[in-house]
Amino acid sequence: MALINENYLKLPGSYLFAEIARRVAAYKAEHPEAKIIRLGIGDVTQPLAPAVITAMHAAVDEMAQAETFRGYGPEQGYDFLIAKIIEHDYAARGISLANDEVFVSDGAKSDVGNIQEIFGVANTVAITDPVYPVYLDTNVMAGRTGALGDDGRFAGLVYLPCTAENGFTPALPASRVDMVYLCVPNNPTGTALSRTELKKWVDWAKANKAILLYDSAYEAYIREPQVPHSIYEVEGAQEVAVEFRSFSKTAGFTGTRCAYTVVPKAVVAYTKDGQAQPLNKLWNRRQTTKFNGTPYVIQKGAEAVYSPAGREQVKATVDYYMTNAAIIREGLQSAGLEVYGGVNAPYIWLKTPNNMDSWAFFDKLLTEVNIVGTPGSGFGPSGAGYFRLTAFGNRENTEEAIGRIKTKLSI
Ligand SMILES: *Cc1c(COP(=O)(O)O)cnc(C)c1O
Repeated sequence: MALINENYLKLPGSYLFAEIARRVAAYKAEHPEAKIIRLGIGDVTQPLAPAVITAMHAAVDEMAQAETFRGYGPEQGYDFLIAKIIEHDYAARGISLANDEVFVSDGAKSDVGNIQEIFGVANTVAITDPVYPVYLDTNVMAGRTGALGDDGRFAGLVYLPCTAENGFTPALPASRVDMVYLCVPNNPTGTALSRTELKKWVDWAKANKAILLYDSAYEAYIREPQVPHSIYEVEGAQEVAVEFRSFSKTAGFTGTRCAYTVVPKAVVAYTKDGQAQPLNKLWNRRQTTKFNGTPYVIQKGAEAVYSPAGREQVKATVDYYMTNAAIIREGLQSAGLEVYGGVNAPYIWLKTPNNMDSWAFFDKLLTEVNIVGTPGSGFGPSGAGYFRLTAFGNRENTEEAIGRIKTKLSI
């Protein structure tokens, strides 16, 4: 009799986006004339940069000739892309990395989900709350938690609340923790952590022989100088942190798929008898066994993100989204709402008025002004009473939505 991994049964159904779709469909059925604007989706909408398209076309043509055709590439990614990543994303900021410390992949979601495989099942994991669900769910699947409690929290997992009360700055764990996921700038709250705050985490990790799993998918949206673009700008981080980056939000690759993970050779975890083992070696083993590389055509597209034209084009698109973010942020503020984020990230996190339940606010926004957002409670218990809007829409819809909120929403 084949048994299943019963840890999967601990996970609730992925209720959030299904329930949003259900409520929107029900409203539409009753109000077919309503012009619904979606500011809830965490996906980009603008096309790929022309420089990326040109590079991918050329790469497709290379695949058509025996002399330039490529089969399996290096599992870790082609050196042409890794060299550009190191030069522009790290060396330019004074960080030195070797080529074999960078692993190109098909997405940060896969990498942040897979990385836990190289760690012991007995490790205690901490996540910030609210949180991007991948960190939590993959550790539940692996058996690093107990059951989901009535309070919406998994037993055995350490939740680090991030709310307006603590300025969305997670406190260092009060009990033993071995692995911590940090997402900066944050999805869903749109807030970021300063160099000073991150230094506390690096020092804590060193003192506790713990590992920081640092998701930096929104690095391109950072505007404030006190927010580092890489965890490795913080002294000592190359001994305790793994960093995840993606071309998805940086360059519109959500449907194209390319990302990378940095595992410095100095980062170690331990065997039961206390021997230090470099994570780089384990991750390399894991990737070369279970992953066969990101397509050549896609890596050529990613390389073009670093060309002079590519950099300019990609920056223009990020600026476009960040102008949307400013429109949303300022519009909501002038409507009298309490808003966070949107300065270093394409997400705006608002406090629901009068402590309204997140889903009640969802219904209010849908029915009064025909705008769809995402209830904060869907991202974790500490997201209750909050609501997420995204800046990934087009300008016209964003302006129209904010105009409706300012003139028609009863607060
Ligand atoms: C969008 C996103 C990613 C990127 O995932 P890909 O698989 O590279 O598209 C990673 N982390 C967070 C928090 C995200 O929101």
